[in-house]
Amino acid sequence: MPTDHAKIHRVRAIVLGMLRLVGLSMVTIGLVMVVNRLLFGLWGTGNIAQGWSNWMGIGQWHGIFFGVPLLGAGVTLALLSGRLSHWIVRAPAMGCARCGYETLDDEGRCSECGYR
Ligand SMILES: [Zn+2]
Repeated sequence: MPTDHAKIHRVRAIVLGMLRLVGLSMVTIGLVMVVNRLLFGLWGTGNIAQGWSNWMGIGQWHGIFFGVPLLGAGVTLALLSGRLSHWIVRAPAMGCARCGYETLDDEGRCSECGYR
């Protein structure tokens, strides 16, 4: 774990970027799968309801059943990425990573600026 304040911010920024990239990838793949299924229903069968219930082929993932949970997980990951980056890269007990104030409370929050 880094002990220098600037290093903590750099590592957190990298972790945050990676979490958001993974979340964005999950959202993109989920959207493609859902839209693919909807287009299959529209143009493939001419009936959206049938597109939801028909299987495209043996071994084919159903876009709705796989895409919607992937979309939800990706959005959740993207929304929580800020907190997760702080949870993954903890500030050491040497003081606040933002302002340098020496005393942190029991939850690791700075009593001077509130940074955690
Ligand atoms: Zn502070």
